[in-house]
Amino acid sequence: MVLSYPLFEIPFIGIYLIVLAFVFGAVFASFITCTAWRVVRHEDWMGGHSHCDTCGHELSTADLFPVVSYIALKGKCRYCGSKVPPRDLIFEIILGLVFAATLWLHGAVDAVVIATLTLEVLLLGLSLADWDSGVIPDGFLAAILVVWIMTVGFMPEMQKYAVEGLIASACVGFAMVIVTAIIGKVKKTKMSYGPAKLAMCLMLFCRIQGAVIAVSIAVVLGVVFALVCKSKNRKISLAPAISIGVIVALILKDIIGIVFQIHFV
Ligand SMILES: [Zn+2]
Repeated sequence: MVLSYPLFEIPFIGIYLIVLAFVFGAVFASFITCTAWRVVRHEDWMGGHSHCDTCGHELSTADLFPVVSYIALKGKCRYCGSKVPPRDLIFEIILGLVFAATLWLHGAVDAVVIATLTLEVLLLGLSLADWDSGVIPDGFLAAILVVWIMTVGFMPEMQKYAVEGLIASACVGFAMVIVTAIIGKVKKTKMSYGPAKLAMCLMLFCRIQGAVIAVSIAVVLGVVFALVCKSKNRKISLAPAISIGVIVALILKDIIGIVFQIHFV
């Protein structure tokens, strides 16, 4: 079912939905940061209770409200008083804002926006996992492929452009595999093909214009991230750069149309 209506024409409903989008964004960020944390540590990511990293005390529901709990507890553990790093809070606010911006710029609640929001959650998770471990977990890539298969399966608009997505995926993937192999040869190290696999998965969603925009942003940010990682003497993580490139391409108003090539209103 597609609930589609121009948000701007119904101000109260529009504001309500955008605030709701922020809340959902914060909740999903809380879930996915926890999932990424567990995946990186090879813990059971489905079950188990969250606990304080310092004292190990199991956290109650009241400690786990996104944004609110952190502010109410002044950034400290309720049980041992140790300072909790603000990282999760920052990502909860960022994903809340990204969700709100996505819905606001898109102006409708429909299958496209739901696919976009799902991608944004997965990209936050795999970027954090890559930043923390230097590896992009295959599980996240599989989830992105499932989203693509579902959008192509259920959205006739996407079916029309599936071939273009496959071409973008093949071209960008091929280019990245070649570049990765050359860098590996020059530096005489084993390079990860994770970023190439991620780019291939994401390009499936893009038409050529969308792919060009996303890749341009990702290349510039990739250089910045590589320099930052080098200065900090840590493994280079490219997933955040690729993810930001695609998310920026997705949330800019007309770009949702360019990437998915579906124009509303
Ligand atoms: Zn504690």
